[in-house]
Amino acid sequence: MGSASVIASELLRSMARPYQLAGIDLNITASIGVALYPSDGDSFEHLLKQASLAVKSAKDAGQNAIRFFDRAMDGQLHEEILLANDLHGAVLRNEFEIYLQPILDMRTERVIGAEALIRWIHPTRGVVSPGIFIPIAEKTGLIIEIGGWVIDQTCAILTRWAGDPGFNQLTLAINISAKQVGRGDLDHVLARALAEHGTQPNLLELEITESALINEPEQFVDLLARLRRLGVRLAIDDFGTGYSNLTYLQRFMVDKLKVDQSFVRDLALNPQNAAIVQAVVQMAVSLGLKTTAEGIETTETPQALRALGCDQAQGYLFSPPMPVDSFQAWAQGALA
Ligand code: C2E
Ligand code: MG
Ligand code: MG
Repeated sequence: MGSASVIASELLRSMARPYQLAGIDLNITASIGVALYPSDGDSFEHLLKQASLAVKSAKDAGQNAIRFFDRAMDGQLHEEILLANDLHGAVLRNEFEIYLQPILDMRTERVIGAEALIRWIHPTRGVVSPGIFIPIAEKTGLIIEIGGWVIDQTCAILTRWAGDPGFNQLTLAINISAKQVGRGDLDHVLARALAEHGTQPNLLELEITESALINEPEQFVDLLARLRRLGVRLAIDDFGTGYSNLTYLQRFMVDKLKVDQSFVRDLALNPQNAAIVQAVVQMAVSLGLKTTAEGIETTETPQALRALGCDQAQGYLFSPPMPVDSFQAWAQGALA
């Protein structure tokens, strides 16, 4: 293992040197997976399979990484394959459900809307969280179908609420995967759903994670502008974790930044996190954007966030995500 590790590091190092191609400096990174004979397998095919699992794990860890095969990788992949199989057809079998988590005005603590968070009610596993199945849906391409279902459901909910004076001002935010953005036809998908349900577009907000936008921001400027023209609102989710190219923030023309939970969680105790939240809020103010803090769990946090000038609040302190009926009952109580 010692010498394999030395060779792998050596390979990574030489790959990392810039290459000249037609006068341009190219930087290439590599991911290396290692399987060892005889402990990981005794045939070429078997070793190759284990090494592929290891390289997949190296890629998942980011670029420029080396991973040695271990048995857990096999189990994890097996689990993923089982879930991926079940995921096919889960839309048709009606196994998904929209949960809603309230978003409140930070000052008045009145509910102003909700975030739609999908749940998979698996026939034998029970509730599977999106943190588990969304990455699989992204890898298999099923996210397009699942994401389309979420868009359709939320438009239907908004249209239902339009007839109810207690609910017709509430906004609904949905999470959009990088894969949905990358296809470039999201504006058409949305336009169709909005028209079909007769939904007022400015009540629908699209949350796109910061990490989905940072790699090729230029290609998103156009799409985001087309989405804006539809009249829907745009928010950057998990803001603060992805080293955004700040010059793009203005060109993206988003309405809102959602401050990542990791900065909010122990805000009152951690001056570094408070400084980050303050910087995000100040930048948002100067760009004319709203801010939402998510992941508020403790009673001291809203006070600290108000002092920093944050606009909206979301977190278990107010309510966890809940089925649509429960949200409506909850909001009726909160709005009364
Ligand atoms: P997100 O969009 O950042 O959503 C916030 C997550 O934090 C949700 O987890 C929510 O339940 C959780 N959360 C809310 N308040 C608190 C709190 O006070 N403390 C803690 N510890 N957690 C809190 P959830 O529902 O498991 O969703 C996880 C992620 O899955 C979401 O992160 C989002 O990126 C993704 N996701 C959820 N639904 C969809 C969907 O319909 N489409 C896509 N593409 N992604 C989705
Ligand atoms: Mg979100
Ligand atoms: Mg988030």
